[in-house]
Order: sequence, then C-alpha cells, then structure tokens
Amino acid sequence: METSCSIPASAQVVVVGGGIVGCSVAYHLTKLGFSDVVLLEQKAVAGGTTWHAAGMVGRLRTSNSLTKINQYSAELYAGLEAETGHATGWKQVGSLVLASNEERMTQLYRTAAMAEYLGVQADLISAKEAGEKWPLIKTDDLLGAVWLPGDGKVIPKETAMALAMGAQQNGAKICENVEAHEILHRNGRAAGVKTNQGLIEAEYVVLACGMWSRQLGLTCGVSIPLAPVEHHYVVSNPIEGAFDELPCGRDPDATIYFRGEDNTVLLGAFQKYTKPWLQDPIPSDFSFDLLKADWKKYRDPLRAGEFRIPKLKDAGYSKFVNGPESFTPDNQFLLGETPELQGLFVAAGFNSAGIACAGGAGKYLAEWMKEGEPTMDLWAVDIRRFGRWANNRTYLRDRITEVLGLHYQMAWPNREMETGRNIRMTPIHDQLKESGACFGSKAGWERPNWFAHLPSKPENQYSFGKQNWFGNHAREHLATRESVALFDQSS
Ligand SMILES: Cc1cc2nc3c(=O)[nH]c(=O)nc-3n(C[C@H](O)[C@H](O)[C@H](O)COP(=O)(O)OP(=O)(O)OC[C@H]3O[C@@H](n4cnc5c(N)ncnc54)[C@H](O)[C@@H]3O)c2cc1C
Repeated sequence: METSCSIPASAQVVVVGGGIVGCSVAYHLTKLGFSDVVLLEQKAVAGGTTWHAAGMVGRLRTSNSLTKINQYSAELYAGLEAETGHATGWKQVGSLVLASNEERMTQLYRTAAMAEYLGVQADLISAKEAGEKWPLIKTDDLLGAVWLPGDGKVIPKETAMALAMGAQQNGAKICENVEAHEILHRNGRAAGVKTNQGLIEAEYVVLACGMWSRQLGLTCGVSIPLAPVEHHYVVSNPIEGAFDELPCGRDPDATIYFRGEDNTVLLGAFQKYTKPWLQDPIPSDFSFDLLKADWKKYRDPLRAGEFRIPKLKDAGYSKFVNGPESFTPDNQFLLGETPELQGLFVAAGFNSAGIACAGGAGKYLAEWMKEGEPTMDLWAVDIRRFGRWANNRTYLRDRITEVLGLHYQMAWPNREMETGRNIRMTPIHDQLKESGACFGSKAGWERPNWFAHLPSKPENQYSFGKQNWFGNHAREHLATRESVALFDQSS
C-alpha cells in the first residue's frame, strides 16, 4: 500500500487518524461515493492503540443500535480479505462468558434474553459444557455460562491495514507521517486542517485520533471528553493444550478475559479501577509503543487467571502489554457531528472495544455524513450527549479510572458512578443532603434519586430484585399525593 504522499491543497473529506477507526471511516466514505477522501496519519497506520489490541470481536452490546454496529463489524471483517486481498486474521472462534455466583448467573439469563431479542445467538450452557469448549479452565466452581458462537477475533493491525487498502482501492489517499496541528474553521464550520506539511482545505473533517482526539479538539474549541487509561494483558509461554482456535473467554467476576494465541494463552483484565495515563499533551511520536509493565498492579488478575486456568501457573509469561486506550465518562464511544462546528465529525473514545466497534462505527458515521443525520438511533454514542462540563481534565482523569472496570462489573439497574462526582451542584445541595438525599449524577449534576428515612443511610443497595430505594420512594410519593412536595428543577 502506498502511504507516502504529498498532501493536496484541498479535499472533500480529511480523516485525521490512521487507527482502525479512521481507516474504517475512510473505507466507508469511499463506499458511499465520497470520491475525494484523504486520511492523515501522524506516524504509521495502526501504530496508536490499534496494533496491540487483543483483537476480540463480540457481537452483542446493550442496545439494538450498538449490537447492529458490532454485528456489522464481524461480518465486514469476515469478508474483508476476499475483497481487499489483505488478510485480517478473522477467526470465528466464539466466546464464552462464565458465571461463578448466583447474581452473575441472573445477569447471564438476562444477557441471553437480550441476545435473542437482538438477533444474536447466545446459548446458556452448563459448567461442564463450558469446560468442553475451553478444556484448560477449571469449572467446578461455575454455575454456568453463555456461549456466543458468532463472536470471533482478528489481528487488529492487519484489519486496519485491510480497511486502509480497501479505502485506497476505492480512491482514498492514505498519507502517513502527516501530523494535523490544528482544525481550521470559518463561520461556525470546519474548513480544513493545518498540518506539518501545510494546509488542506476541506468540506468535512473527521477526527478519529483515538486518545489524541481531545487535544486536537481543543485547537478549535471543540469538546471531545476522553482520556487515556492503562489497559493490561499478558501472554503466557507455550502451554500444552492451548491453541489459536480456543474461544474468547470472559470471567467477569474475576475481571479477566482470555483466549488462545497460537500455543499460548493471552490473559487480559478489566480491573475495577485502573490508572490514568497522565500525559498531557500525548506525544505524537508514541507509535507502536507501550507503557512500562506493571506486574504489581496485575497481581490480582494474574492470580485469578491462574485459578481459572491452572496451567498458567507453571508456564510463566513471555509478554506484558500495557497499552494506553482512551475512555469516555460513560463507557460509550463518541460519534457524530460536533455541536460546536458544523462539518467536523468525531469517531473516538472506544473504551477498549474499538476493534469490535470500528467496522460499524465507520459505516454509520459515513452514512451520517452523507445523509446529514444519523441513519439509526445513535443517541447512546452521539457526541452531543456531553457538554463542555465533561471535558474538564480533572473530572476526566478521575472518572475514567472507574470506566474501564465497568465492562465486567455487575450491570445493576440504577447503577451510579462513584467517581467524578460533586462537580455540578445546585444551591440547595447541602440542604438536600441533610434531608437524606441519595444522589445520582445526570449530565454532571448531583440530583437526589431518593431520600433515606433518617437515620437509615442514603446508600444504594444494588440487586436485580427490589432495591432499598423502593420503600423510601413510596414515602415521597405519598407525601406528594397527600401532603406537600418541593420539586427542584434548577439542574
Ligand atoms: C491492551 C488492550 C487490549 C485491547 N483489546 C481489544 C479487543 O480485544 N477488542 C476490541 O474491540 N478492542 C480492544 N482494545 C481497544 C482498541 O485497541 C481500541 O479501541 C482501538 O484500537 C481504537 O482505535 P482508534 O482508531 O480509535 O485509535 P488508534 O488506534 O489510537 O488510532 C488513532 C490514530 O490517530 C493518529 N493521530 C493522532 N493524532 C493525530 C494527528 N494530530 N494527526 C495525524 N494523526 C494523528 C495516531 O497516530 C493513531 O494512529 C484494546 C485496547 C488495549 C489497550
């Protein structure tokens, strides 16, 4: 693929960022008939976060639209080699989610029901059947599992390359070693990009710069609330019985995931709290690079992995991958036209699911640009859901430490985030607190979800059954009907 080029003076669309997401956007734009697309990559295609991802591609998400995005990605990756001539390494190995307690099992029942509704095959299976699918795992403590046969894995770098090649074959220009320094704008519209090689005028600009996106947004007054955290996995030495076609396994109660990697095991983690990467600005020469191995922080996942896959203990490890990846305040990516500048689109903040989402995110963003509006309900990922308040650096650094872990924390109804709190409070906040308010957070505002009957504590006790707000809420309800209620609508 030819990637060294002198930049043109103008283009219809400039895509900034040559990770899997930018490549997918460029690929889909050309498919939809955008004939003058230029992709700028500051170093080399896939050298940001993409190259070191674990490559797992799950189809099931928490809503219809998000599941459509991932379903499409899986189907796209499966056929991309035939179309572009570049292998993606797609293998439909399936995936397995384990439950080792009653509550997780309840969540898996819900997962399976949701999957049926969303058209994704997900079978509830016994612990014994889970062991048959992943013979190296210990199963005697498991209550069951969900088996998703349509899931798979890719080699992320090669998939990004295949998308870039597809885009190029359809007329896009892929320019490596071109760094965007500033987004140009005129009269409230994006007008082009200033680069280390000069200016490019453009009708549309797409920011797909992964963890670099926020700092580029700031050059034109656009909020892109994301920040990088550390995400870790290790690769074992060869293990007898390990092979590449083993399914992608997830043991969320232990915060770990695992899959076969040739004759070794890749063991990754979504620990409850992780560390932000406190680098500002993020250096542009961080390409095909990693952060320092942190074996101390990885002690618990390692123990959990060695419990679940006992052969890991004797095998030892050949590789520690500590990759920075951008996270958003709510664990959903940021897509669409920015409210600040027309013609400036964003596809960033993929919360460690960007390989699985990139195919669909690229398709739906390209459609959005062509049609002038989203072609399905994309509000959950629409960048307009956040305001400027969310782009505060201190807030982001605090919040994202909790977000990575959400992938495997229990998806309790009414779950509230613990970090990034008390950033927006109404004048009567203290009075509400004294009255026993149990606060939730909406668009950064602290709002009472319910009031505890003092002296009981205003703390959520989560469950899939009746939660502890119920009786307290009933008292408020009665008071509103039969006595006096004060509604605070100031936030
Ligand atoms: C350890 C780890 C494991 C993971 N495993 C999985 C997994 O199994 N499945 C999954 O779905 N996801 C996984 N992910 C997440 C996935 O890797 C990311 O979500 C995805 O790679 C993000 O792609 P991107 O294109 O948005 O960002 P990137 O790959 O970072 O691409 C952004 C690109 O923009 C370029 N750029 C930035 N600024 C500029 C500029 N000013 N001018 C020009 N170019 C610029 C950068 O050089 C970079 O190449 C994992 C992540 C980590 C860290």
